[in-house]
Amino acid sequence: MDDPLRVGWEEWVALPDLGLPALKVKVDTGARTSALHALDIEPFGPATKPKVRFAVQPIPERPDLVIACSAPVLDRRDVTSSNGETEMRYVVQTKLTLGDQTWPIELTLTNRENMAYRMLLGRQALGDAVTVAPGERFCQPQLNYDVYHSRYVRESAPARALRIAVLSREDNYSTRRFVEEGEAKGHVIEVIDTTRCYMAINASSPEVYYDGARLPRYDAVIPRIGASITPYGTAVVRQFETLGTYCVNGSDGISSSRDKLKAHQILAGYRIGMPTTAFAASPKDTGNLIGLVGTAPLVVKLLESTQGRGVVLAETKKAAESVITAFRGLRANFLVQDFVKEAAGEDIRCLVLGGKVVASMKRTGAAGDFRSNLHLGGSASPVRLKKAEREAAIRAAKAFRLGLAGVDLLRSAEGPKVLEVNSSPGLEGIEKASDKNIAGMLIEHIMQRVKPTPVRKRKA
Ligand code: ADP
Repeated sequence: MDDPLRVGWEEWVALPDLGLPALKVKVDTGARTSALHALDIEPFGPATKPKVRFAVQPIPERPDLVIACSAPVLDRRDVTSSNGETEMRYVVQTKLTLGDQTWPIELTLTNRENMAYRMLLGRQALGDAVTVAPGERFCQPQLNYDVYHSRYVRESAPARALRIAVLSREDNYSTRRFVEEGEAKGHVIEVIDTTRCYMAINASSPEVYYDGARLPRYDAVIPRIGASITPYGTAVVRQFETLGTYCVNGSDGISSSRDKLKAHQILAGYRIGMPTTAFAASPKDTGNLIGLVGTAPLVVKLLESTQGRGVVLAETKKAAESVITAFRGLRANFLVQDFVKEAAGEDIRCLVLGGKVVASMKRTGAAGDFRSNLHLGGSASPVRLKKAEREAAIRAAKAFRLGLAGVDLLRSAEGPKVLEVNSSPGLEGIEKASDKNIAGMLIEHIMQRVKPTPVRKRKA
């Protein structure tokens, strides 16, 4: 520090690394260490690189304004406070801005409520270059809590280490990529087996438990709910939503997009192009059902179908009737759909992230198969989307309010026709076909979404 700074017993400071642009502090030369009053102090991350997360309410009169912070842990140490209590505290290093100078300080974190000052600035942080004038206040320029009401608080928010859960039962390419990209950006990514989560459902404290313990507060959840566990999986996601955790895909969007009937109704409601589709429960309606969709060839799909396994092409009306009779005999739910011939065994997968198409690929079915699913031997290649296709994909993801969605569409003579919206799109095929780092983009998206939002001012 060049010039000695003069400080009074009360000053304004900023902790830029923690995203705290204005804090009123008490300068306490009686104390050696500096302390920040924080809530929900929780260690996380690997033992070799421990981190701590905590929440700060920078404005004492506005407990509704909570800034989430995280910092690397320097140490854990016994600290005796002015009231004589000794407490084991996390020590973090962070930058302090006071007046026109910024320097690193050590800060202990403590959860003591009803403190008039959110921070005490001790001797060690002030060092020798600061002159303390104990009888004075605000020797340095005063800051204002108004920054927390402005966009500045969001735009200047530092990239903090996040704790992210991937809800998945599988150790597959996509899960591994989320972990890899998240860790590369300094975050902690935990893969949680959805079916091992259990919940206490009550009004006062919704929680999620796992292996006998309460799960920590995650900054974000990436749901990868398999089709076979949709009801339970979405209940777990809903619980995280109740806790206020940012979920990349919401429980409602996951369950509605999974339910083929509901999904078609929603897409139709948003006037998104799709193949003419009909559904009935009574066996008497077979003829009329076929009539509704048009003429053969028709596609008959089991509602539970995934990866193209329950999708049948009926070339003639007779064939359609037999397939329908067979499905009915099995008491299976199905829908009948106009066959989009022009698509010629090809469909387009658009990956929509945060309302934008970030990658796309064309999938071509194995020779002789009208289904283009990669699981059935189809192959993927890059594709340039037309404007109408891009728009249909974006609108389809938006209809289900999905942050990350795979939208499948067919190229028909009348323009794009959306087949389905997938809330757990696989990354392997599309990252390879498009040569894009989708997992990395998803982590960036989360980092944007969990930034603090400016709070409204209260009317005086
Ligand atoms: P799943 O959910 O089991 O993958 P889809 O509805 O996506 O079922 O159908 C699987 C594949 O069959 C699609 O990717 C597409 O190539 C083909 N297909 C499905 N519906 C039609 C249709 N109406 N017209 C032409 N091809 C279709």
